[in-house]
Amino acid sequence: MQAFSAALKKEGKCIGLVPTMGALHEGHLTLMRAAKEKCDVVIASVFVNPTQFGPNEDFDAYPRRFEEDCRKLESVGVDAVFHPEPAEMYPEGYCTYVNVDGDITHKLCGAQRPIHFRGVATVVTKLMNITRADEAFFGQKDAQQVVVVRRFVDDLNIPVHINMVPIVREDSGLARSSRNAYLSPAEKEAALVLSRSLRKAKAAYNGGETNAEALKAIVTEEIQNEPMAVIDYVDLFSFPALLPVETVNEPCLLAIAYGLTVRVIPPWWQRSSLKTKVAAAVPLGALFLALFAAYILAWQSLQIPDTFLPTEHFFDLPFYVSQIRWALEGVGLGKPAWGDIPAGERLELGLGLLAAALLAAVIAGVLLIQALRKRVYKTVGKD
Ligand code: AMP
Repeated sequence: MQAFSAALKKEGKCIGLVPTMGALHEGHLTLMRAAKEKCDVVIASVFVNPTQFGPNEDFDAYPRRFEEDCRKLESVGVDAVFHPEPAEMYPEGYCTYVNVDGDITHKLCGAQRPIHFRGVATVVTKLMNITRADEAFFGQKDAQQVVVVRRFVDDLNIPVHINMVPIVREDSGLARSSRNAYLSPAEKEAALVLSRSLRKAKAAYNGGETNAEALKAIVTEEIQNEPMAVIDYVDLFSFPALLPVETVNEPCLLAIAYGLTVRVIPPWWQRSSLKTKVAAAVPLGALFLALFAAYILAWQSLQIPDTFLPTEHFFDLPFYVSQIRWALEGVGLGKPAWGDIPAGERLELGLGLLAAALLAAVIAGVLLIQALRKRVYKTVGKD
């Protein structure tokens, strides 16, 4: 790639770069067309960049359709595709990162994705160096990304001009995004709440409402009316400075991020409200107590002679261990086998087994709920 670009440079060609992560759609192709119009040669990069994904994010699941992407790129006249492997971009020993350490990376998406913009800035710098681009094209859909890229390009004196291309939407109003592939038809329908809420806020602004809080409240209320959507943030900042505003009397960015199913950021117990935690803990705790009470009552009502009341063994770990060992022996995993156990003790053993099974079921239930909640928070859209 570097040799290709060096030869173009020698010929004095203007090189345009469009960085993408693939799974291309009309939004990407609009960027390509804008680059074609302005540059002699257009290079598209298709690279799912691992350094911009957090540990619980969708790097592995991110859609990869390279052959289909190439056909699309060819159809809009892109001259070259750069599609490196992660190990080519980040070989063993790699340790250099571009860290845009200003307020602009700590808000909006940066607030919940602490390493995201470091990964973006690093890969975009590398792509610019490799392709020796004169012009680079980014979508307004990721408006904060444009601000960050412009910042480090200025700060590091990188001789590339940054172009911002307007958001491309589906007819329904949904912003086109590779991650829309994660959405079921019902989720896609629910995601329309984003563009709808923004249109509502815009109508209010056009009608004279310039108070930032009021505009944010319009968006928030609309999204809250959609049961499937969970708001990550609704924020309004000046653009491109990304400074807080009270009154909208300059260009501003009203940005929303919401969860449906894509992005796993913190696990649910960190994200969910106290109310949700209590709502989950109370029935599970109650179920556990009910099972334990039933176990004790069973002991007492059976009145098995020469044995013990389990209440004496509440905090008696060796007792629980002996129950499990007993249970194992009972199912033939130890000695003596079931038939060798005296009848009265079999009852004890049966109850021990039952209690252990119920406890395991409760633990499994908790783990399952946790896993499901993680998936629920896997999807994100922003607008
Ligand atoms: P991605 O492949 O999602 O990293 O996106 C690559 C580039 O395409 C980024 O600059 C995005 O902002 C831009 N892009 C993605 N979707 C759209 C869209 N719907 N409209 C305009 N640009 C987009």
